[in-house]
Amino acid sequence: MTIDIQRAAQLDRESLFHPFTALNDLYRDGPNVMASGKGLHVTDIHGNTYLDGMAGLWCVNLGYGRQDIVDAIAEQSARLSFFHTFNSMSTDVAIECADALLKRAPVPMSRVFFGASGSDANETQIKLIWYYNNLLGRPQKKKIIARWNAYHGSAVMTAGLTGLPGMHALFDLPLGPILHVTAPHHYRKAAEGMTEREFSRSLAVELEELIAREGADTIAAFFAEPVMGAGGLIATPEGYWEEITPILKRHDILLVMDEVVSGFGRLGTYWGAQTYGLEPDLITAAKGVTGGYFPMSVCYISPKLWDVFEGNRDAAGLFGHGYTYSAHPVGAAAALATLRAIDEDRVVDHVAQVGPYLHERMRAVLGDDPMVGEIRGRGLMIGIELVKDRATKEAFPMAQRVGRQVLKAAADRGLITRALGDTLVFAPPLVIDRESIDALVTIFKAAIDAVR
Ligand code: PLP
Repeated sequence: MTIDIQRAAQLDRESLFHPFTALNDLYRDGPNVMASGKGLHVTDIHGNTYLDGMAGLWCVNLGYGRQDIVDAIAEQSARLSFFHTFNSMSTDVAIECADALLKRAPVPMSRVFFGASGSDANETQIKLIWYYNNLLGRPQKKKIIARWNAYHGSAVMTAGLTGLPGMHALFDLPLGPILHVTAPHHYRKAAEGMTEREFSRSLAVELEELIAREGADTIAAFFAEPVMGAGGLIATPEGYWEEITPILKRHDILLVMDEVVSGFGRLGTYWGAQTYGLEPDLITAAKGVTGGYFPMSVCYISPKLWDVFEGNRDAAGLFGHGYTYSAHPVGAAAALATLRAIDEDRVVDHVAQVGPYLHERMRAVLGDDPMVGEIRGRGLMIGIELVKDRATKEAFPMAQRVGRQVLKAAADRGLITRALGDTLVFAPPLVIDRESIDALVTIFKAAIDAVR
C-alpha cells in the first residue's frame, strides 16, 4: 500500500463515490478502510481486526486469502489473462467451468451464460425471457412480477425489479413492465393473528388477482430470492411455495430463482431451490461462484427456454447480447477452484450443521431480549429485527437509527454486521466454525447492550 494512512480517509472522501452510502454518513463517520484479510477476519489500515459477519457482501463464502484460489487466478492470469466468447470464440477454462456448473445445477439445465455481476445476470435473464416469448410469437407476454423487499440488482431494469422504493426514487426507472407483490414477510405483513399458512394463502390470492387483472397472456416471469437478503432477511412462511408454484405453472409464468446469495451452500443445501424443493426455469448465481475472488455471474437456462432458442436459430440469427467479460478466463479459473474447494471441503454439509447452530445460539442469547422483535432466516443467513416495543412490534423512530448505532458498536468490538434499517443481519463465510459463531453472538449481544 502506498497511500499515507493518516490521509487515507480524507483521500477516500475526495475521490471515491461509494455505492449505497449516504454522503452525510461518509463525511461524518467514514470511511472504514480495510487493508487485508485472512480466513474469517479482515484488518483495517490501522491494524484493527474484525470478524466478518457478512462475508464481505454475502460473497466471501470460503474466507479470505485461500491459497488454492489465489494460485488458480495467478496461473490463469499468466497463461491467458483474457480472451472472449463472442463470435464463436471460447477458452478451455470457460468450457470446463460451464460444464462444471451445469453438473452442479439443482435441476437439469441446458446452458450457462456468464456475466460479471448479479445485476448484469438478472438483466440478462429479463432479456432471455423477452427473447423467449418473442421467438414463441407471443410478444405481449412480457411483464415481470417481483416482490416488495426483493433485491435483484442495481442496473436500470433490475433496480426496478428490486422492491425497495429508496432505489426507485430520483432515478426515473422504467417500471412499466414490472409488477410488485407483497413480500412474504410474516412478522411485518401478516394481519394480526394470521398463521404462516394463512398468510401464504393470502399472498397466493393476491398473486391470482394480479394475474387476473393484468391477463396471464401479458405476464412472463416471477422473480424470487429463496431467502430475501438485502430487503430485510426474510425467509418464506410455511406453505408459501406450495401455494405459489402451481399458480405460476397454470399461467405459464417462468420461475426465476435469484440465487446470487443463496447459491453454493448458504442455506445448507447447494441451492436455495433445493431447500424449498423448487424447479426453476432460470437461475441467477454470482457472488459465491468465485467466493468473491473475482467478479463473475451465471445465468442457468433450462431446456424449456433453450429448446426454443435452439429450435428457432434460423429465424433468430445472431444472439445480440453479451458482455466483454462474459466467461472471463480468470473468473472461470477462480470459479473452478472455488467449486472444487466446496466439494473437497464438504462446505455444504458443514453449513447444514453450523447454520442451525447459529440460529440456536442467537435465540438462546437474544431470543427473550426486550429489544429483539424477531430472529429470522435460514442456514447461514440470519436477521435480528430490533424494536422499541416487543409486544406491539413498534419500531424505533427512524431518526434514532438504532440499527446503525448497533452496527457501529459491533464494529468497535471487532465484528462486522450489516444494518438493514433496524434489522441487523449476518451471513458469515460458510466455513465459519462453532467457536467463531459463539464469538459473533457474544459480541453482537454486547453491541446491543451498549446501545440500549
Ligand atoms: N440478486 C441478489 C439476491 C443480490 O443479493 C444481489 C446483490 O447483493 C444482486 C442480485 C446483485 O448483484 P451485484 O451486486 O453483483 O450486481
